[in-house]
Amino acid sequence: RVWNFSAGPAALPQAVLERAQRDMLDWNGSGASVMEQSHRGKRFIAMAAQAEADLRELMQVPADYAVLFLQGGATQHFAQIPMNLAGEGDSADYIVSGHWSAKAASEAKPYVRVNVAASGEADDYLKLPPRDSWQLDPNAAYVHYTPNETIHGVEFHGVPEVGAAPLVADMSSNILSEPLDVGRFGLIYAGAQKNIGPSGLVLMIIRRDLLQRAGRPMARIFRYAEHAAADSMLNTPNTWGWYVAGLTFEWLKAQGGLGAMAERNRAKAELLYRAIDGSGGYYRNPIELSARSRMNVRFTLHDAALDAAFLQESEAAGLLALKGHKALGGMRASLYNAVPPEAVEALVAFMRDFAQRHG
Ligand code: PLP
Repeated sequence: RVWNFSAGPAALPQAVLERAQRDMLDWNGSGASVMEQSHRGKRFIAMAAQAEADLRELMQVPADYAVLFLQGGATQHFAQIPMNLAGEGDSADYIVSGHWSAKAASEAKPYVRVNVAASGEADDYLKLPPRDSWQLDPNAAYVHYTPNETIHGVEFHGVPEVGAAPLVADMSSNILSEPLDVGRFGLIYAGAQKNIGPSGLVLMIIRRDLLQRAGRPMARIFRYAEHAAADSMLNTPNTWGWYVAGLTFEWLKAQGGLGAMAERNRAKAELLYRAIDGSGGYYRNPIELSARSRMNVRFTLHDAALDAAFLQESEAAGLLALKGHKALGGMRASLYNAVPPEAVEALVAFMRDFAQRHG
């Protein structure tokens, strides 16, 4: 297999894939795949409960939070969150720090009065809007932010203080990458396809009192309280996604949990940023030092005419998906949990070699 730096859907741990492969035709002694069985069956319900228990243990989720295994991608929840948390006429604060938080704010507009309390747009999202510049509304229904911007490669290090309004975080590209004080949040959500498992699954951790909010009139399927009451089985869940997520949680526990992952992720990012910064300008990362993402490392070559050769040669060397997002160009290496240190070592060695050969 190649070293896979895809931003998402992204690499999964080798051990998770091997286990899924072993289980494919005969899961748990059932003689059938997990995908071929009822979510109401004993085996599935036991697996689902174990996955939730493992996640709760990994993230130290307090008892007054519900864990939901939903569908629709993070994008659907850009709309569904205001539908659930905001009543008629309410406003919500949005911190815009890159592509995804901008999209979350714009998708919320049909359902809540969006107050962009801070934006990094004028700085091309190369740095984060400083906390003391945020214009928070004391009556906001919630404050939404995106701790890690997958495309722009900026990350909040530490959880911002926002006062009484519940803090809502799109953690699609940084969930499970380090220990987290879940109690600081009202709602955490993440599309699964980076640090959890297959796309199509959305993990949500929501403080139970927020489930009591009336929101707006809507079908039951959109209401988080209904999903919580039905143990995320209001309708047929993404059974395959839930199962793979469970394998990933098991794997994370075996790796030593989120403290161990944080240390590994810090070292991986440091290695790559050091190679970029130490390249004498051959490679460049434009992000302000304090806002650099550990998960998504952007870099450009000193001459964009070399981009095609870099991509072609890196792929030939077994380094997959280094092309930057089309909106920004350049390169991007995503270093999620499943990307091992050896992958980053191979990338850094390739970058040095490429710079020498193409001086
Ligand atoms: N939020 C962030 C931070 C992302 O990186 C992505 C990318 O996939 C999304 C939201 C959109 O997720 P989905 O495609 O699951 O709707």
